[in-house]
Amino acid sequence: MNPGLYIHVPFCKTKCPYCAFYSVTSLSLVTEWLEALRKEAALYTDRFTPFDTVYLGGGTPTLLSERVLEELIHCLHDQFAITADAEFTMEANPDDVTPGKLAVLRDLGVNRISLGVQSFDDEELRFLRRRHSASQAKKALDWIKESGFPKVGMDLMYGLPGQAESAWLRNLEETIRFNPEHISCYQLTMEEHTPLGKMYEDGQIESLGEEKERSLFILTSTFLQEKGYLHYEISNFAMGKENMSCHNLKYWQHAPYLGLGPSAHSYRDGVRWWNHRSVETYCMTLGQGLPPVAGAETLSENQYHLERLMLGFRTREGLSVDEIRDCPQADSILRQLVDSGLVVLNGDRINPTLDGYLVADSLPLLLAG
Ligand code: SF4
Repeated sequence: MNPGLYIHVPFCKTKCPYCAFYSVTSLSLVTEWLEALRKEAALYTDRFTPFDTVYLGGGTPTLLSERVLEELIHCLHDQFAITADAEFTMEANPDDVTPGKLAVLRDLGVNRISLGVQSFDDEELRFLRRRHSASQAKKALDWIKESGFPKVGMDLMYGLPGQAESAWLRNLEETIRFNPEHISCYQLTMEEHTPLGKMYEDGQIESLGEEKERSLFILTSTFLQEKGYLHYEISNFAMGKENMSCHNLKYWQHAPYLGLGPSAHSYRDGVRWWNHRSVETYCMTLGQGLPPVAGAETLSENQYHLERLMLGFRTREGLSVDEIRDCPQADSILRQLVDSGLVVLNGDRINPTLDGYLVADSLPLLLAG
């Protein structure tokens, strides 16, 4: 399988209280970051090739000026072989999107936009402290469609404290009015070390609770499948296989990928490594001519197998019966999983059911014994 290329753009205008991704809210280091990224790319020029997916994420890539985006994308093409038909995705925030910027991105070869809508309800957007309003998100979606991007994805968030099924359903109904090729629905989690996580620990907010979260998950899947979307990963839906995110599939299939930028992770041949999180340390290390790698691990055969099971149970594709054959008591555990409605057997494939998706992380532990 061809490798994928990920670029971490570590800048955001403001920090959302639930977000655990690394980013800073000052743009003062953009020039240094771009220079450092050039140096980091040069370290890997011939080591991963050719890429058939490129993904600009973050952070907020659309916060970068058109000039910086041009320099960045030209740098990637100068340093790496990228297939002519590569899937080229960029994350976008509704309040940064303008027809002018979209036209530049389209000209630069971006063919897939993933828009962080999160909600079409202004009160929910205020709770999430997003910078945009529902009407800005709608306007951005219209512009993206008009700009001719072949694939448009929308990111949404559910499971907000106190969120009623009817409120979430309104979000889903509004979403499909735009006919996006791809929809990601993430459940809000109270991540440790985030302001929202702190509010949760201090008892200022309550989570929705497991039962209600399960209902919203089932509602999401049922509603979107009825509208023709393929539920191909716990949080991801595509209008047909051809619209699945090829880049994200690489993560779930242990395919090689190279991540450039602060906090980015890479993987190849059983080895995973990750960069310094701080943009200052990242730039300084590359300025000294050193790789910005903060750590690395080589997966043991057991770890690899466990990860393979975990990733398999997250996706519609599931696992092959062969992949669990060596697990202790594989046959009886598989029977229990089928009997409890967590997986179904389709020929030699083991596919998670909706309830199986909900416990995808713990299923492999059962099999690992
Ligand atoms: S959710 Fe997105 S925009 Fe908000 S802080 Fe995180 S990366 Fe930045």
